[in-house]
Amino acid sequence: APTLRAQRRHATSVAAFNGQKNAKGNYIVSMIEGDGIGIEISKAVKEIYAAAKVPIEWEDCDVTPSLINGRTTIPEPAVKSINKNLVALKGPLATPVGKGHQSMNLTLRRTFNLFANVRPCKSVVGYKTPYDDVNTILIRENTEGEYSGIEHTVVPGVVQSIKLITREASERVLKYAFEHARSINKDRVLVVHKASIMKKSDGLFVDTAKEVAKLYPDIKVEFELIDNTCLKMVTDPAPYEDVVMVMPNLYGDILSDLSSGLIGGLGLTPSANMGDHVSIFEAVHGSAPDIAGKGLANPTALLLSSVMMLRHMGLDSYGSKIEKAVFDTIASGTANRTRDLKGSASTSHFAQEVIKRL
Ligand code: NAD
Repeated sequence: APTLRAQRRHATSVAAFNGQKNAKGNYIVSMIEGDGIGIEISKAVKEIYAAAKVPIEWEDCDVTPSLINGRTTIPEPAVKSINKNLVALKGPLATPVGKGHQSMNLTLRRTFNLFANVRPCKSVVGYKTPYDDVNTILIRENTEGEYSGIEHTVVPGVVQSIKLITREASERVLKYAFEHARSINKDRVLVVHKASIMKKSDGLFVDTAKEVAKLYPDIKVEFELIDNTCLKMVTDPAPYEDVVMVMPNLYGDILSDLSSGLIGGLGLTPSANMGDHVSIFEAVHGSAPDIAGKGLANPTALLLSSVMMLRHMGLDSYGSKIEKAVFDTIASGTANRTRDLKGSASTSHFAQEVIKRL
C-alpha cells in the first residue's frame, strides 16, 4: 500500500499554472463576457486592466449554446481557446428556468472538469454592514450532487431529481480543501452536510471526508449540519475565519450567497472554478436581468475574481494593485459606490475611480 506521504503527494491534481507567454511577453486569457450585466462588468475589467498595464491579452470567446444530439454544447473555438490558454475570466451566463438548454455554467464546469469551486468572502473595510469581521472560505463540490441533471417525470404530478454523490468526486474536492487549508496555513477543515437526512449521499461525503482526513494528520476535520451552519453564521460569522469549509454542490451554492449577504451582497464576492488543467474565474452572482444595461452593476465581484486569477498566474503584484484600488474606491464614499452598496456611481464611473487609484 502507498505510504501516507506518497498518497499526500498525489493528494490534489490541480496543476500549478503552466501557461505560455506570447512573443510580446504577455499571457493570453480567454474572456467570456457573459449575459446581462456581464457585458458592462467585463468592459470595466478590460478598462482597468489596460490602465494597470497588466501583461495579459484577452481572447474573447463566444459560448452561445448549441444542442447537438440533445446535449448542450459549447462552441468548439471557445473550448480550444480555454484549453490553450488554461485560464478564463467569465461573466455570468443566464439559464432558462424549467425548460430549454442546460446551464452553460454547468456545461463549462463539466467540459473542463472544474471540480472545486473556491468562494472566499471577506468584509470590505469602509463599507458598513452588521458584521465587519466576516472572512470565510467555502469550497463547493462543483460537478455533481443536485446539479447532475438526472431528472424524470415518473407519472404526471410526480417527478424525481436525483442527487448523485460519488466517492471519486467527493474525494477530489475534499483533498483539494485539505490542500487549500494547508496552503493558507489553516489547520481545520469543516465539512458541511445533512447526513442526518441524506444518509446515503451526504453519508458517503462524510465517510469520504473521514478517510481523506487520515492523509492530513496536521489538519483537524470537523463536521456540521448545514442548517446549523446557516444559523451560526448569521448569528456570529467570526469563528468561521479559522476553518476552510467544504460541502456538496447545492449547499455551497446557497451558503455562499448567505455569506455574500453578510458583507454587502452579490456585487462583492468572487470565485474560482479549479480543475486539473484549466481554471475559470467568475463572480458568484448571475446575469442580474433586473439591472442589465442600466449602468448600475457593480463590477467588484468580477474584478476580485480576476485578482484570484492573477494570483493563480503568478501575477500577484498586479492583482494586489487592482484589489487595493477597488477597496480604496469603495471606502472613498457613496459617490463612488454602485447602487447595491447604497451609492450613486454608475459602473463606468466606478471603473474610472478605480483607475485613478491604481
Ligand atoms: P443574480 O445573481 O443575477 O441577481 C440576484 C440579485 O442580485 C439581483 O437583484 C441583482 O440585481 C443583484 N446583483 C447581482 N449581481 C450584481 C452586481 N454585480 N451588481 C449589483 N447587483 C447585483 O441572480 P438571479 O436573478 O437569480 O439569476 C439571473 C440569471 O443568472 C439566471 O439566468 C441564472 O441562472 C443566472 N446565474 C448565473 C450564474 C453564473 O453565471 N455563474 C450564477 C447565478 C445565476
